[in-house]
Amino acid sequence: MSLSGIQIYKLLPASSKNAEVKKHGNCKECGYPTCLAFAMKLAQKQAELAQCPYVEDESKSQLEASAAPPVRLITVTGTERKLEVGNETVLFRHEKTFFNQPGIFVRVKDTQADAADVAKAVDAYSVDYVGMDLTLNGIAVEAAGGDFAATVAAVKAATSFPLILLTEDPDTAEAGLKAAEGTRPLLWAATADNWEAMAKLAAEYKVPLAVRADDGDVAALAALAEQVKGAGVEDIVLDPGARDYGSSLTVFTQLRRLAIKKNERKVGYPFIGFAGDDASLAGQHIAKYAGFVVLDSFSPGTVYPLLVMRANIFTDPQKPIQVQPGVYEINNPTPNDPLMVTTNFSITYFAVANEVESSGIPGWLLVADAEGMSVLTAWAAGKFDAERIAKGVKGNELEGKLDHKRIVIPGHVAVLMGELEEELPGWEINVGPREAVDLPNFLKTQWG
Ligand code: SF4
Repeated sequence: MSLSGIQIYKLLPASSKNAEVKKHGNCKECGYPTCLAFAMKLAQKQAELAQCPYVEDESKSQLEASAAPPVRLITVTGTERKLEVGNETVLFRHEKTFFNQPGIFVRVKDTQADAADVAKAVDAYSVDYVGMDLTLNGIAVEAAGGDFAATVAAVKAATSFPLILLTEDPDTAEAGLKAAEGTRPLLWAATADNWEAMAKLAAEYKVPLAVRADDGDVAALAALAEQVKGAGVEDIVLDPGARDYGSSLTVFTQLRRLAIKKNERKVGYPFIGFAGDDASLAGQHIAKYAGFVVLDSFSPGTVYPLLVMRANIFTDPQKPIQVQPGVYEINNPTPNDPLMVTTNFSITYFAVANEVESSGIPGWLLVADAEGMSVLTAWAAGKFDAERIAKGVKGNELEGKLDHKRIVIPGHVAVLMGELEEELPGWEINVGPREAVDLPNFLKTQWG
């Protein structure tokens, strides 16, 4: 149960009955002016308990329990790869960040002859997006009247991803769990009718268990989760049984609000959403608020936008996506080829690098450390100036690598030209175009 700021304050040193501990009260070592200010931040989950070194042991255990994320972390593992979902602390990304992106799974049936082939294709699919390697996360194997254990075994052999076992029959579930030995699948689902047997299996095989209610019945879902928890299963996933746009959005939002705003532990678990072949519904589940999203089939055209959307939602808004500063060689440049400079904001880097690469023009791209900001933002913030560019030129020993002393700066920072000439005596500073798309033409006509 989460504690209020005042309840937390009563457990901090300023409120202690122990004089030795109390003397540290309001010492500011946590970075806040008073214990009360720190308590308020802890209650809002915007500070870490470890920031105060003077909390007494008995208070610490209460505070740690209170500080536990309102959405439980659930881990599923495959033969080589794993997925963690949950641990979320906010409703909206801009409040802090989302921590664990939802896993996207592709469903296969045990009546499907090519189930292992689908698993192989899912396993192999990856997309390079602004320097990030985006992949799917697993296979959901459905018992549909075929040989469930054999299909689970074949799929397990074909993919390193985790599995979801889709069956409500305890005997079939146990056969699947045996076939999935060595991995930690999610077992779906316990219902009002089978929960005792399914909970027994989940506890015995130490796997997370999804509980399913009908038609978005939140009260029934919470009660079922409590029953399963009482039977010894801690790792629970919620399936409210809502399958269309409106009902799934409503019930997922209600549940997440209850968990995060009301600290309602009974529903403090990740959700599973079934999207069929509807990419828009899958996108809705990713945004609000599924931990597991199951698609009915695999198609790169459907999956690609989902992976990119997910990556954009689940990057930390306080940390720009960056590439490593340094010198990048494009199209095998020689020492006579052009030298350009840009910042280490990923999207800026890829915009410039892709334009030059696709033009076939060889060149050297100096990526300055601008703390992950784009050109104009970094310049305005004083993070992309003549001194930093010169530092990049000298630090990367470009005078020794190149047979010329010319550098092309982005048109948006033409004002740096004079300062850069002072920082790099003997160098010719060329002002390039403002947009990356104009760079190839600039190099063709102006360099030579
Ligand atoms: S570190 Fe912060 S919370 Fe801990 S005693 Fe000092 S002021 Fe209070």
